[in-house]
Amino acid sequence: MQLTPHFTLEELCFSQEAARAGIDNTPSGEVTANLLRLAKMLEKVRALLKHPLHISSGFRCAALNARVGGSKTSAHLEGRAADFICPAFGTPYVVARKIAGTRLGYDQMIHEYGRWVHLAVPRANERADRELLTIFEPGKYLAGLTQLNEGRA
Ligand SMILES: [Zn+2]
Repeated sequence: MQLTPHFTLEELCFSQEAARAGIDNTPSGEVTANLLRLAKMLEKVRALLKHPLHISSGFRCAALNARVGGSKTSAHLEGRAADFICPAFGTPYVVARKIAGTRLGYDQMIHEYGRWVHLAVPRANERADRELLTIFEPGKYLAGLTQLNEGRA
């Protein structure tokens, strides 16, 4: 199902981990509505970066989220978040900085482990907080976008 010109429902629900574990990661109607809003945001990001996004994780049902060690309050559970890279544009840090420099209405963006960007849209009818975080160690969130984990060698 095509949600927007460049993003399908399947792409935002696909998970190698779910496939391996036999987990049914089919979204509910409510989750699908969130995924549509997420896809619209991803279209804006794609237009900004002028290159395709490679999505590694979108919706995660509870079983899948638990299996991959996701936060119990993860926006992925509601279909409101995607993890992606855009190598043709730059590193995840450079991508996150570019997005942060716009007025896009994301709820939260996290530069994760220097490896990918996590971008979440707000719940329907809620304000976009535009919160920026960086994480290099599980559970240890740093405010803002940073490039290096200066606490580690
Ligand atoms: Zn994520």
